[in-house]
Amino acid sequence: MSTPQTVVIAGAGLAGAKAAETLREEGYDGRIVLLGAERRPPYERPPLSKEYLRGEAGLEKVFVHDEDFYDEHAIELRLGETVESIDTAGSAVVLAGRERVPYDRLLLATGARPRRLAVPGAELDGVCELRTLGHSDALRERLRAGGRVAIVGGGWIGCEVAASARSMGLEVTLVEPLDLPLQRTLGPQLGAFYRDLHAEHGVRMLLGRGVAAFEGRPGGAIDAVRTGDGARVECDVAVVGVGVVPRDEIAGRSGICTADGILVDEYLETSAHNVFAAGDVARAHHPLLERSLRVEHWAGALHQGPAAARNMLGARVAYDRLPYFFSDQYDIGMEYTGHAAEWDDVVIRGDIAAREFIAFWLRQGRVRAAMNVNVWDMAPDIQALIGAAAPVERDRLADPSVALGDLLPAGVREV
Ligand code: NAP
Repeated sequence: MSTPQTVVIAGAGLAGAKAAETLREEGYDGRIVLLGAERRPPYERPPLSKEYLRGEAGLEKVFVHDEDFYDEHAIELRLGETVESIDTAGSAVVLAGRERVPYDRLLLATGARPRRLAVPGAELDGVCELRTLGHSDALRERLRAGGRVAIVGGGWIGCEVAASARSMGLEVTLVEPLDLPLQRTLGPQLGAFYRDLHAEHGVRMLLGRGVAAFEGRPGGAIDAVRTGDGARVECDVAVVGVGVVPRDEIAGRSGICTADGILVDEYLETSAHNVFAAGDVARAHHPLLERSLRVEHWAGALHQGPAAARNMLGARVAYDRLPYFFSDQYDIGMEYTGHAAEWDDVVIRGDIAAREFIAFWLRQGRVRAAMNVNVWDMAPDIQALIGAAAPVERDRLADPSVALGDLLPAGVREV
């Protein structure tokens, strides 16, 4: 693979910014063009629903690099630029203004956009989503005004915003179609854990029901959320967190293979030669998990951006990190490692009532994923357990007096 003269990165989020940084770290001295549709320099999203939203942290906690970084590293950061299409035969991206930017390697790190609810009243003032820095700024101003918040969706956005809004003193009602928050990812036992946590902090939970409409004066502000079973939740602001969709349209209309994300191999290369993808938009073949996976979490962008950068320079290193994310709600912090779309057993090590424990999701006796709650520094052992993919003894897994490392098969332990 020849050294590229120009690397173009479409998408100036965390994956894109980290890729640009890595190219320079790896000694690449060619041209780097980093294109971002938003007018803000690359930023990280985790604080946007937590400390930044609550006003406890400022922009310094949010931006990936300081202001001068891009100039100092000769990275052409072009903000407010949208890529319209990719000419894969001619190796150029075409911007909204018709400008062509030629590339030798292209990284697509275009992320995801919030899913919209197609119900009446969704355009009312006060119906908010939370994805961008601008969204977080706007929501913070509304929360500071106090009052009642209705949260639609008991996923990660819904739960984290509920915790933030409660700690800012607002009245919070959460509406979720499943019977428990976070149920799809965590299952019934851990979903109940989070339900109880929020209930204890005064969040009213309307579970097992969807949203039929947002109500308010036409052209005016929201005053209530109407649930599918007819309940009316009066509110001053509604926050909708019902998932995201990958921004893979540019790839799709340029003939690059997509299927709920841009399909990439374990080297993060797309079906088009010299075109790579990373972050929320990328559906990558995972060599350890032996499946394609699109990970919509911060750590995916943090690590896939650099991995793609190295592979664009010819490293050919498979991306085999296990998915990882964290969440902080009230005084409960957690880290989730691995991927368990299906499981047949959940093992708890520690005291779930005391809120210090590790939950393990198993399939056929093998650990697929784990979540440590208010217990820290477990990552290496947990990763090794999942990576080993060997059967573990259930009783010993549940027993905190047995070191996790001792549950590894002998060959893995010696390494
Ligand atoms: P999410 O975590 O996928 O959760 C979406 C939630 O909305 C689910 O509980 C879903 O229920 C519910 N929902 C779907 N359709 C609905 C409807 N019509 N009415 C009411 N609820 C509905 O997505 P998110 O919370 O919007 O977060 C957006 C993205 O940011 C996700 O990729 C998320 O992983 C990421 N994020 C991550 C973190 C973190 O890692 N700590 C924090 C915030 C956001 P069903 O399960 O029934 O579909």
